[in-house]
Parts: sequence; C-alpha cells; structure tokens
Amino acid sequence: MADIHDQADAMGYSTDASTSGDLNQAEKLCAMCNEAASKVCSKCRSIQYCSKSCQKVDWPVHKLLCKKFATLGERPNPLTKRAIWFPVSKDEPQWVWLPYVENEDDGDIPMFEAFRDKETGFSHMQFVERCKILQRDLKCKLVVGSGDSMHLLPNRGILATTQGLAPIPWRGSVIVYGELGASEDTSKLVDINMTDFKHIVEWFSAYKHTICLLELFYMSNNPPG
Ligand SMILES: [Zn+2]
Ligand SMILES: [Zn+2]
Repeated sequence: MADIHDQADAMGYSTDASTSGDLNQAEKLCAMCNEAASKVCSKCRSIQYCSKSCQKVDWPVHKLLCKKFATLGERPNPLTKRAIWFPVSKDEPQWVWLPYVENEDDGDIPMFEAFRDKETGFSHMQFVERCKILQRDLKCKLVVGSGDSMHLLPNRGILATTQGLAPIPWRGSVIVYGELGASEDTSKLVDINMTDFKHIVEWFSAYKHTICLLELFYMSNNPPG
C-alpha cells in the first residue's frame, strides 16, 4: 500500500489522540462509530477516530474542510465564533469567524450581515442536537440558518458536500454555528469543529430524504396536468 503521506491531499494521520488541542472532552468517541477514539487527524487535530478504517470512510467529506480548518488563522476578535458558511454559488463550504453581540436578556446574537443573501437573509433556523445514526447527543446544538425561498439558487456547496444526491437542493446561502444553553435567553455561541462538520453533512444528507418524501407525496396527490 502506498504511503498516504506521499499524496498531496493525503489524510493527516496520527496515533496519539491525547495531544488534540481543539477537542472537547465530550468527543472521546470515534466520530464515525461508538468505539472509543484513539486517533486524531494530524492535519486539523479536530476530529477523532477509533481506527484507520473509520477515518477512511470519513475522508471524502472530511477532506473538504480539513486543510481549511488548519489554516483558518487566529480569532480576529473575542466576539467571534468559528462557524461553517456555505455560500450559495461556491462549490465548497468554508470556515468563517461569525461575529456576535452579547446580550444579557436575549443571549448571544449572531451578526449575519457578511454571510446572508440580501433578499431573504437567514429567515429559517433549524436545530440539530443529536446524531441519529450513532444515537448520541452532539456536544452543542448546531444551528442551521438558511433563506426560505424557492426563488433562491441551489446551494452548490451543499450539493457537492452531499455528493449531488439531493434531488431537491438546498437554496440560497447557508450558515452553521454552535450554541449552548437551555433556552434562547441563555444561549451562548461556541466554536464548532470538524466533528460538527461531519454531523451536519450527515444531517443535510438525511434531510434531503425528508424533503424528497414530502415532494413525492405532494406529487402523487397533485399529478401534473
Ligand atoms: Zn470508529
Ligand atoms: Zn483533518
């Protein structure tokens, strides 16, 4: 077998999970299964696996943001959190620093100006708190902000990330960020990482089935012509 480090886009690979800087204590389990994690991606140091085989299964999705995570750079100011942005007309998502304001009454309030589509903004917020495939809670709530209009263009980054399988695509730009707190008033924004990216791609991929089923249901009850 070829040495994986010889390839330009090779998987970063390390056997020492204990030196991972960015990982939450809650992320002691493999990102791909419920085994204990013992390996960390040596490029981003932001996701853990139980084995090389689990890392390989994740690699086609992981490689889309692994290097960008490692090269994002320093937090520009304390009132920003690391988030994932899917611009509507780019083929790849990107890591961004999402600015926010602290508000005692309403919790942290994200400032979307630089990331939203002018016409609709992020009018639709959805929350992902659990990995249904692995049957476990995520370390923080993932908030998915999107426009809510069929007039927006399909989101090319989500199409590419879910490998183009979504028959009914997400539309407009989409942002994903992390939040902790029991209610909206107490919510605190938190950085998300490559493990969260993995979970959100899974959620996008499952979501398409829901939409597709609804669409099929609609079509079967409203035949064309
Ligand atoms: Zn595993
Ligand atoms: Zn990585």
